[in-house]
Amino acid sequence: MTTTVITNIGQLVTNDPEADDLLGIVVDAALVIERSTVAWVGRAADAPAADAQIDAGGRAVVPGFVDSHSHLVFAGDRSAEFAARMAGESYAAGGIRTTVAATRAATDEQLTSHVARLVDEMRRQGTTTVEIKSGYGLTVHDEARSLAVARQFTEETTYLGAHVVPEGATPEEYVALVTGPMLDACAPHARWVDAFCETGAFDADQSRAVLEAGTAAGLRGRLHANQLGPGPGVRLACELGLTAVDHCTYLAEEDIAALAESGTIATLLPGVEFSTRQPYPDGRRLVEAGVRVALATDCNPGSCFTSSIPLCVALAVREMGMTPAEALHAVTAGGAAALAREDVGILVPGGRADLLLLDAPSYVHLAYRPGVPLVAATWVGGRPV
Ligand SMILES: [Zn+2]
Repeated sequence: MTTTVITNIGQLVTNDPEADDLLGIVVDAALVIERSTVAWVGRAADAPAADAQIDAGGRAVVPGFVDSHSHLVFAGDRSAEFAARMAGESYAAGGIRTTVAATRAATDEQLTSHVARLVDEMRRQGTTTVEIKSGYGLTVHDEARSLAVARQFTEETTYLGAHVVPEGATPEEYVALVTGPMLDACAPHARWVDAFCETGAFDADQSRAVLEAGTAAGLRGRLHANQLGPGPGVRLACELGLTAVDHCTYLAEEDIAALAESGTIATLLPGVEFSTRQPYPDGRRLVEAGVRVALATDCNPGSCFTSSIPLCVALAVREMGMTPAEALHAVTAGGAAALAREDVGILVPGGRADLLLLDAPSYVHLAYRPGVPLVAATWVGGRPV
């Protein structure tokens, strides 16, 4: 059996860039899957014959979610820290070190099974492509094995040795390690290089050194910036022509102008603000300024332990002024752009058949019904999962 038609789709979101509307919506639609790719989309009445047929029952079909920012390789539990924060303590970058000790102590098997559990959790909520970072090892050995574990689950692996300076090292010593022997050990397992450009982590010069060394080693750059306060990170990312800069919570006018001009994707991570009681990034302002926006979970044990893209959609709509269409675009086509991927986040002929059947007549239900599991069926590379 080589072709399957999904027919009687009440509302199909294609994200076709040629369409007049942002989401490239087709009503009363059908979609044909041939092996791993989308072979045809259009009105159901015009659909070609296929070997198998699935009736969507008038429900909506959308591209699988692309979560372009997560930190899934870790061990330990920080729920007590969350409870303390909810009782009034503030979030600081140094909390990362707590997870580092537990991650170093875990076996490869423990790390792998933990990542498998979280990737499965994401999958059940509609995520079909996930980026996974290192950053809780902070030694040559532990960063390289973190990436080797991540590589078992995704091609989109990111070397984040520059997450925080570990105890016992000076920043100068540690940046030399991150740009030298650690990079050599990690580059074979990674597609991306990243740094945490923030007060308490790495400054602009240190972040630049890490990104330049990584790109010289063949990796592509992305950056954590402007999460906890204003800073130089967003402008650095734009100047270096990075694919994406993530968080973008505290932005000055010149940061927004730099984003709009450079085409660097601003990845907003509203689960972090939800989980830390920080102010949300101004999604509306970015969209109006012509900035390309993605939304992702930042799933990590410290500042945001959700794996739910639908939660991010609901927060972007409810708290950040984005429309349901803009938010869905940001977790599909936006996430794909933030990973420089043209085969996912879109349902057009030739694209990967990564798609979701929603238990709803419209994608708007993703924001309209927060907290409700709406993913009725998922296909990854043309296979139901
Ligand atoms: Zn992050």
